[in-house]
Amino acid sequence: MISVFSKDHRLHFGQHELIDGRFVTPFECPERMERIMQRIAEVKLGEVVEPLEFSLDPVARVHALEFIEFLRTAYSRWRQRHGDSDALPICWPSRTFRQKPPAEIDGELSYYSFDAGTPITAGTWRAITVSVNVALTGVDILQGGQKSVFSACRPPGHHAASDIYGGYSFFNNAAVAAQAMVDGGAERVALLDVDYHHGNGSQSIFYDRADVLYVSLHGDPQQEFPYFLGYADETGTGTGEGYNRNFPMPWGTQWEGYQECLDRGLTLIQNFSPDALVVSLGVDTYEKDPISKFRLRSEDFLKIGSKIVQKIHCPCLFVMEGGYAVDEIGINVVNLLTGFLNG
Ligand SMILES: [Zn+2]
Repeated sequence: MISVFSKDHRLHFGQHELIDGRFVTPFECPERMERIMQRIAEVKLGEVVEPLEFSLDPVARVHALEFIEFLRTAYSRWRQRHGDSDALPICWPSRTFRQKPPAEIDGELSYYSFDAGTPITAGTWRAITVSVNVALTGVDILQGGQKSVFSACRPPGHHAASDIYGGYSFFNNAAVAAQAMVDGGAERVALLDVDYHHGNGSQSIFYDRADVLYVSLHGDPQQEFPYFLGYADETGTGTGEGYNRNFPMPWGTQWEGYQECLDRGLTLIQNFSPDALVVSLGVDTYEKDPISKFRLRSEDFLKIGSKIVQKIHCPCLFVMEGGYAVDEIGINVVNLLTGFLNG
């Protein structure tokens, strides 16, 4: 399997996120990707290629122009006001507030974000544009006839909506890739999200559409981040009704419970008969993940990959999302990819 990777992901390296009442170095750190690529090299998974350069046009197919411009300029405007430090928001336009972007950078950070865990740093813009290019290069390679590609995207993307960032996500790499597939001629694209957290951004981007089926397996939002989307009764709207399917599962879920939902999700995708599949590949479902509460073991990721390829036979793009148990992240990601390759 070809992997697409750029070392420029390292340019995004926040120093602070607010979690459990403390400011800590973000769990979403560059070492995650280094470990994944080390493991890919160790097992000789396949060729590793650099991403191509794309314009921002494919990004603008799913993200609002003012949001793209905000991300492009946010750090320099923050630095003018506060000096060199992570740009973090401080208040949000909750119920009873007006949904109107303020003029100052501090207010704008709040307007466009939904959490205090997603710092913008000096290198963030470069890293997020490269990350989305890593996904788009994967699409390009699939269109060239490969059956599967691993896009080593970092930062991740599935929490980013059209004009909202958060959950370590800025541009929604998987959504941009799925849209590029549609724009490239695919009539139906399925997006399977196996990250531990619900992909609120991906859901909202495609919520009113029937050409992109979104299926997510994740921690129940009654217990788990991002708390305000991801319930089973969110099934799409308008022509998109029936094309959004959520499988929330409780804390402590192990393989037995997980595989039932995975089988049901894969059957939905099979019945949709997609021209292409995008997998939002998170391995924070792992039992030792420091911020998640499922109990999957490393060998279970082999079974996830294997189940996907046994049921779905179209070209498949794996887009990296979360996974924070750094010591085992490489093993877990490569297990899933290997399970897919070995059927
Ligand atoms: Zn996650």
